[in-house]
Amino acid sequence: MDQPTTPPADADARRAVRPVICYPTETLPEAPMALYAAARRTLRTLGEVLVPPRDAACFRVPAGHFFRIHSVEGPQVGDLNLWNAADLSERFYSGKTRALHGTHLTTGDRLWSAFPHLRPMATITHDTLGWYGFDGFGGSVHDVIGTRCDPYTHCLLSDGGQYHHCCHSNLTRALAAETGLPLHEAEAHVHDVLNVFMCTGFTRDTGQYFMKASPVRPGDYLEFFAEIDLLGALSACPGGDCSSEHSSDTAACHPLLVEVFSPDPEMLSGWQPPARSGYDRSHGA
Ligand SMILES: [Zn+2]
Repeated sequence: MDQPTTPPADADARRAVRPVICYPTETLPEAPMALYAAARRTLRTLGEVLVPPRDAACFRVPAGHFFRIHSVEGPQVGDLNLWNAADLSERFYSGKTRALHGTHLTTGDRLWSAFPHLRPMATITHDTLGWYGFDGFGGSVHDVIGTRCDPYTHCLLSDGGQYHHCCHSNLTRALAAETGLPLHEAEAHVHDVLNVFMCTGFTRDTGQYFMKASPVRPGDYLEFFAEIDLLGALSACPGGDCSSEHSSDTAACHPLLVEVFSPDPEMLSGWQPPARSGYDRSHGA
């Protein structure tokens, strides 16, 4: 076996180099939060979808409208996918959203779409868990660091176990039912999620992904402004509040409510959906 590597003489000096923020948020186009704040004071309910526990449901939100994900009945985590309603290839890009806004999202942060589009699909306009911040373990809520619980990882880690109500499968079934796509075609459109209400972080000593009981309580909600016409899918994770385990039927699970709202159209006169990325896509060829 190889010996452990020997630290160089200047190891401490190298570790002491100060970090630099990769993407300073000051360089991002500013979200018109004052406009959204005024518009959200005029909201009228357009419709709602109840997501059953250990299952998922789809919903549609026209550009310029708002939607909320509500905790009802009990603490519950939700796994959110978003697509351009007219083009499933434009979908939420959790990795770039994480690079731009950090590991956990809250009011003012945006959900960005995949290349070559790279534009805001939605902006978070209210977060009743905004008070949580980061706890003593480095945990926070609404992460873009987890992926989604899925039956492949479960099979890998449980010696071949088969479980069919992981968020990945729930989202796949819901998208297939909504679009009429065959199951395996729908599955290819399911992507890494925004973990709504989930409390997660990385352990300070080993850098491992952790979860802990969500601080969400019935009445809490996360609110979004739809920047483009959206098709959404939300799974009520089989992990429930994710205090112990997922990928099984043991955790207490609760439904989640998605509500869609329309603002007074006067409030958004002059507002337009964001343009797609201006990169010319020639890639130097
Ligand atoms: Zn899940």
